[in-house]
Amino acid sequence: MSEEQGVRTCPTFNSPRADVILRSSDNVDFHTFRIILSEASPFFDSMFTIPQPLSEPNDDVGHKNGLPIIPVSEKSKTIEAVLRFCHPISDPKLDQLDDLQELLTAATKYELSFIATSLRRQVVPFLEEHPLRVYAIAYIHEWEAEARLAARATLRKPSSELLPAYASQTIPPEFQVLPAVALIRLRRYHQACVDRLQSATSDWNFFWVASLDIGWRIHCYQCGQPSNTKKRYISPYWTDLNSKVTVALKERPCSIAVEEPSHVAGALAQVCSSCPEDGPTKMAQYIKNLAMKVDSYVSTVVLELPFKDLDESTIHAPTLNLDLDL
Ligand SMILES: [Zn+2]
Repeated sequence: MSEEQGVRTCPTFNSPRADVILRSSDNVDFHTFRIILSEASPFFDSMFTIPQPLSEPNDDVGHKNGLPIIPVSEKSKTIEAVLRFCHPISDPKLDQLDDLQELLTAATKYELSFIATSLRRQVVPFLEEHPLRVYAIAYIHEWEAEARLAARATLRKPSSELLPAYASQTIPPEFQVLPAVALIRLRRYHQACVDRLQSATSDWNFFWVASLDIGWRIHCYQCGQPSNTKKRYISPYWTDLNSKVTVALKERPCSIAVEEPSHVAGALAQVCSSCPEDGPTKMAQYIKNLAMKVDSYVSTVVLELPFKDLDESTIHAPTLNLDLDL
């Protein structure tokens, strides 16, 4: 960017035919067009209908090279992203959730609803790393599908990793405006998932059926303990594995808690020389089977939300003219 009295000009938005300048908070000028801003944004459209105060031309504060300067509170990175969406050039690459969040805030402020719609799709890749932030953003903007996906993704993180617990961690801006009820709803969803799985795993058949599905022989006359019916001698690796899974599901009620490698390692260490030879192989299949079963149970738990997605087909449905002159 070219230097000029501390103010730089963005090389991407430097058209000599521009008729207005947006100046970012970090002093970068963006030469753009009123017609583009007006068409894209009701906010700017209203602004341009208001008579602008007279200013000395070329004072580099109110005007520059005869063009009016509009100071904006956003930084240049955000303004460039906004203009990239508005102009017929490639959309910006958003590889940081902070950038997406700032752009979304600007899009809301300037009434650029089409940008918010595009960002809605772009928030999904951040689900795994920042599930709670994505949930907060989706809740604030009433994006039902993304809020549900994000809530489900929070189950995969230990609670200690969800919130910035340490003073050295920055508090993301969306938490300044997220209503407390959003977090209560999420907490209740988590508890409902835990309760659903604890109820299921308290039934011995939950594990037993999962092992029968793969034909896993889990009894051993040497190391096993007699079952209630005394028909089988259940190997300790099976009962130990299941009890660890049950405990893990209280913290993370999802398949990841089942697939924790230490559970298998601990179970395998208890296999004796008389245990079935296919134990390790079947155990891996069993874990996979159980993980699918856990996710299936969790999928029946519904997160309570105060908003719903509109069916896009109803938004764009053509209006039928039923005023027929028969
Ligand atoms: Zn054994």
